[in-house]
Amino acid sequence: MWINLDPNELEIIRIGLAEISPASNWYESAQQVLKKLDEWETTSRSADSKAYRDAADELYGREGELEFDDSSDGTNCVSAGADPGAYVMGWRWVTSDQAGLTFTCECCDKVKATDELDPEAGDKICKDCTKEE
Ligand SMILES: [Zn+2]
Repeated sequence: MWINLDPNELEIIRIGLAEISPASNWYESAQQVLKKLDEWETTSRSADSKAYRDAADELYGREGELEFDDSSDGTNCVSAGADPGAYVMGWRWVTSDQAGLTFTCECCDKVKATDELDPEAGDKICKDCTKEE
């Protein structure tokens, strides 16, 4: 699972979890989440994680196709394994057409790939229909 949180949002979560009373049924779970957040922050900010991220970007990164988040906030999405090495999270671009996503145009009533949506014309008008106007 991945959620893009800025440092303030992460801190709000920590504050909320820390407020859970030891008498609550949620206390143990909250403590486990706080521990995971601390471990993630330590690992993701390590020099090793940055080295793995930079190597992945240099070896495999292709802008617009396969991207590895830069570490501008000081964190890197890296999961070290038992063997020497790590998994580095990257982003692979997939078009709406490749994903098989479609919409029905409100103008011509044809089913089209979402790549054919005209972003200027609203949610459900295809590019062919806006050309004709
Ligand atoms: Zn249309």
